[in-house]
Amino acid sequence: MEYREAKDMQVVVLMGGLGTRLKEYTKECPKPLVEVEGRPFFDYSLKLLMHHGFKKFLFLIGYRAEMIEEYYGDGSALGIYITYCYDGKELLGTGGAVKRAYDHLEDDFLLMYGDSFMDIDYEETLYRYFEGKSRGMRALMTILKNGNRFDRSNVIMDGTGIKLYDKMNMTPEMDYIDYGVCVYEKALFSDEGLNGFLNDENSTAMETGVKFDIAVIQNKLSIDKKIEAHIVTKRFYEIGSPSALNEFREYVKHRFNESHPAVFLDRDGVLNEIVYNEDAEQMDSPQKVEQFKPFPEAAGAIKKFKEKGYYVFLATNQPGAAKGKCKLKTLYDINTIFLEQLAEQGTDIDGVFMCAHYPSMCENTKEEFLIKKCDCRKPKPGLLLKPKDIYNIDYDESYMVGDSFTDIVAGQAAGVKTIFIGDLKCDACKKLCDIEPTHIVRNVTEAAEIIPSINI
Ligand SMILES: [Mg+2]
Repeated sequence: MEYREAKDMQVVVLMGGLGTRLKEYTKECPKPLVEVEGRPFFDYSLKLLMHHGFKKFLFLIGYRAEMIEEYYGDGSALGIYITYCYDGKELLGTGGAVKRAYDHLEDDFLLMYGDSFMDIDYEETLYRYFEGKSRGMRALMTILKNGNRFDRSNVIMDGTGIKLYDKMNMTPEMDYIDYGVCVYEKALFSDEGLNGFLNDENSTAMETGVKFDIAVIQNKLSIDKKIEAHIVTKRFYEIGSPSALNEFREYVKHRFNESHPAVFLDRDGVLNEIVYNEDAEQMDSPQKVEQFKPFPEAAGAIKKFKEKGYYVFLATNQPGAAKGKCKLKTLYDINTIFLEQLAEQGTDIDGVFMCAHYPSMCENTKEEFLIKKCDCRKPKPGLLLKPKDIYNIDYDESYMVGDSFTDIVAGQAAGVKTIFIGDLKCDACKKLCDIEPTHIVRNVTEAAEIIPSINI
């Protein structure tokens, strides 16, 4: 399978819009540069993208283009590479803007909007795109179960993927919405590629291949079953209107300006059952979607941590794919199912930090890019330190909660308090004699009860 990491992947950002609904802010300044808590809006998105490892950017600029170019320059001050493509005088629509930049595109590229803050697992996005590509997919769309919360839903999913995306003809069956991050094959935007999307209905839109909405391409790809889905569960922020801008301003204050503690939760044995692996004849993490069984108390405990004022992050070692027991896709699918179940129960996890690595090749290893001596596999503290640059975390008041001694060692190395879940007579506890967790409890509900409430 062809696979590219974030550092080698081009990010194309649509920044040309006029920002009409924000006119009191955008009279003098393009939307990505609208000030939020002392910084231009897009700085916050760029921080996220750089955190995920992206380095190569192509900004598609139009309205007040020169201000964006002057502010970000070639990116070298930030250690990244930024190039620009001007939309020109005429408004081209999203598809037209990408087509116009054709000569600047790399063979595969991630496309997003410069007026949205989209906090997703971009590593998962890239993996799912390339995994899909190995099965003939030509694009990927991130989607969110919406229930018409933010806008009208426009995607129907079936058991295997996206059944239909249609932004023009919405039906009651649609319960997902396109989230705003996509990945495309460049060839879709060649003259020949675009010809393939012509039909009677959209011929005017596509005729010249100059001015068109990218939704035309997404719709056709969904009908042809050529667009992969990445289901995300966290809401997005955008600055399309003054009220949306204010909402984002409040969010920025909470997330970047004020410091809050976090609870890092190990997953298996803490939030869900561990399972008996017949091949290895031992207890193991779930390696199949149907093996994943969350504890009934998991959602309630997560809710409680959040009510007490903590971020909740997952910090989980999942070496199953690296060892060839399953595909990385399955590990991502399990997390997705869990997050969607939590959303249905009215709660969520702020971030999933999963180490899918393993230090050495195993007999059945297929996804070799997972083999590495990483800094994130517990007992190393990498998973806990990872959110440091995109959240303002008070580590002194934070906790690691786990059922293995490696969780406790990782927590201590990261400088947080630790809660061990388990039976004092177990093997892991014997190892714990020397390293003493802050608390020992029987289950995650007790962990949620034992930690103090943070008064803000
Ligand atoms: Mg565990």
